[in-house]
Amino acid sequence: MTETTSITVAHGDGIGPEIMTSTLDILSEAGAKLDIETIEIGEKVYKKGVMSGIDDASWDSLRRTKCFLKAPITTPQGGGFKSLNVTIRKSMGMFANIRPCVSYHPFVKTTQPVMDMVIVRENEEDLYAGVEYQQTDNVAQALKLISRTGSERIIRYAFEYARIMGRKKVSCISKDNIMKMVDGLFHRVFDEVAKDYPEIETNHWIVDIGAARIASKPDQFDVIVTENLYGDIVSDIAAEVSGSVGLGGSSNIGAKGAMFEAIHGSAPDISGQGIANPSGLLHGAILMLQHIGQAKTAQNIHNAWLKTIEDGVHTGDIASAEHTKVKVGTEDFTKAVMERLGQLPEKMTPVTYGDVEHDHCIAISEVVLPKKMNKELVGVDVFLNWLGSNHPSELASKINALNIKDLELEIISVQGLKVWPEAFDDFKISDHWCCRFLKKDGTAVCNDNIIELLSTLKSNNLDFVKTENLYNFDSKRGYTVAQGQ
Ligand code: NAD
Repeated sequence: MTETTSITVAHGDGIGPEIMTSTLDILSEAGAKLDIETIEIGEKVYKKGVMSGIDDASWDSLRRTKCFLKAPITTPQGGGFKSLNVTIRKSMGMFANIRPCVSYHPFVKTTQPVMDMVIVRENEEDLYAGVEYQQTDNVAQALKLISRTGSERIIRYAFEYARIMGRKKVSCISKDNIMKMVDGLFHRVFDEVAKDYPEIETNHWIVDIGAARIASKPDQFDVIVTENLYGDIVSDIAAEVSGSVGLGGSSNIGAKGAMFEAIHGSAPDISGQGIANPSGLLHGAILMLQHIGQAKTAQNIHNAWLKTIEDGVHTGDIASAEHTKVKVGTEDFTKAVMERLGQLPEKMTPVTYGDVEHDHCIAISEVVLPKKMNKELVGVDVFLNWLGSNHPSELASKINALNIKDLELEIISVQGLKVWPEAFDDFKISDHWCCRFLKKDGTAVCNDNIIELLSTLKSNNLDFVKTENLYNFDSKRGYTVAQGQ
């Protein structure tokens, strides 16, 4: 007999309470064994002055149950309020966002009749780490941080997911033709991990054509694994073309807990009218049931839902003259799904999560730091906030006139483009100049040489705003060369 699982539930804002009531009613009717702790998050909590939208008592519940079914919330306009989703994901180490994107042709209008893909998005790294700096009047910077350990964990998760869910192919999406170090690392780790799953077909897409192909030929995709930003973009494209922004659910998985939700927001424009479609949150709950060892119940609910849709019982957001037999509100849609529990769809393919209760928990690989490489300091990039004539040769002459030991100026670049020496154009309007100093032949340099260099620059009124040490790792260059170099 299945044991009862404790979960934390938040009814959210806008249409949240309506779709959560519907979802919990269907779960209860289907016999899901849940012990529910209810917490309050979102608008009311923000308005009490808790800038994260979640208070300490709610954190206690999340830490206890480690399983969160969350209705959408409204993020108040104006500064200072932090994104609740980002806070929960980061605090609970939820590194994986899983979003199935399916089209329900011909019952739900879609431009893409054949589509059944799952997007596995890395959730913690990349530009979303939010490490940003204003460096000069003209230039701001965001750091894109990708780690081998973070890449390996999400990529392995995607392959394990494919294996457990019986999927045939995993596609990697990156932009490693441009970002050879960060995206190159992600792609390389993908190729390495793929070797452990020979039964699964693999391929790689550059994000621009990959995103276009998801929109135009989604049947070419099965499981997609990608970095945070690309995942954010392609999962919305996929949801949109499947015709089901109001239908999709997603899960956020980590070692310290998991969160399940609809992909849409709190829809304040239709709140309180009893017309919201509860399907997105219900799909989130179906993912949750698989995660907590109630796969048979998940299968029963999912098949009842498919039968409801193919019987033409639709809420207003997906209703169409051709395919809708009865247009219903939230409550009647809920009843229609409950009446069909135990039935299978006849035209669409039924889902098969198993006829006994078990879990679809995907193994989370341990984080193991890579083997230590031989790291050699070979120079430094010093970014100067310099307002001279905009002729970089003037800046180069100024620097070359200084007494700098063991390091020499190799190039000057602006936003990655070489502007000195022998550049196409010896004039570039900028206040942000990257001066690359490399060790002189036959010398070895250490951080003391860099400190000395910075001290010399400072005493000659050259304002450095950032430095990046240049290393070789196992004799291989650990930095890119400038365009035009
Ligand atoms: P939204 O997803 O709430 O609504 C977009 C459109 O889709 C609206 O016209 C809405 O009526 C419709 N819609 C959405 N869900 C529906 C459903 N289940 N049934 C029928 N129609 C549905 O996006 P928005 O309007 O940009 O955002 C509203 C609020 O939701 C904002 O405060 C935003 O910050 C928040 N939001 C929260 C989450 C979350 O909690 N995970 C996600 C996205 C947006």
